[in-house]
Parts: sequence; C-alpha cells; structure tokens
Amino acid sequence: MKSVLKIITGILIIVEAVVAIFGFFGTLAQGFMAALISLAISIALLAPLVAIWLLLSEVEALEVKVNYLENEHRRKDILETPPVPNEIPTAQKGRTAITSWTCAKCGTVNKANTSNCENCGSAY
Ligand SMILES: [Zn+2]
Repeated sequence: MKSVLKIITGILIIVEAVVAIFGFFGTLAQGFMAALISLAISIALLAPLVAIWLLLSEVEALEVKVNYLENEHRRKDILETPPVPNEIPTAQKGRTAITSWTCAKCGTVNKANTSNCENCGSAY
C-alpha cells in the first residue's frame, strides 16, 4: 500500500518536473522573468510532493529497521534457549526423579528433578 503511494507520488513528481521544464522554456519566449516565476511556481508545487516522497521513504526505512530489530530479538530468543538442551545430557547420566522421592538407603526425602540423594549421594 505504501509502495503504491510512493509510485504515485514519484509519477506526480516526474510529471510536475516535466511541466516545470516545459513551462520554463514555454514562458522563456515571453521573457526571462516570466520563465523564472513559472519555474518558482513549479518548484512550490513540487516541494510538497517531494516531501511526501521523502516521508514515505523514511517510513519504509523505519519499517525495515523495525523488521530487523524484531528478527534480532527472535534470534536472541533462539540463542538464549540452548542452555536448556545443554542441561539435558547431564540429567540423562542417571535417572532423575519426576516427583519428590524417598532414598531407599537412608530414608531422606529428596526433591523432584534430582538424581542423587541429598544426604548420602546414592542414585535414585
Ligand atoms: Zn540417601
């Protein structure tokens, strides 16, 4: 949608510029001052169009920046997750209790997610 607006504005700028050139040379026959006035009017008409075009370019640049930052954020999220998969191999060495468990050797009640007794160190 914004790019369509930009194209339309761009076409209008080109048309205005062509009109300005033809206007300048057309009025040049009537006198140099008249040609200058014609050119000044054309520039005054062209200025808002150029401003819109520049603003649209700015908006596009900002959109690109926002997209980049969003991707960067997502990439960081992905980079921050590896520590979790890294923890899995160490846990896989022995069996890990899903819930709290009582040690068969010493009777100590151990927390969930532990693979060794807190008191005597024997495996779950
Ligand atoms: Zn124990």
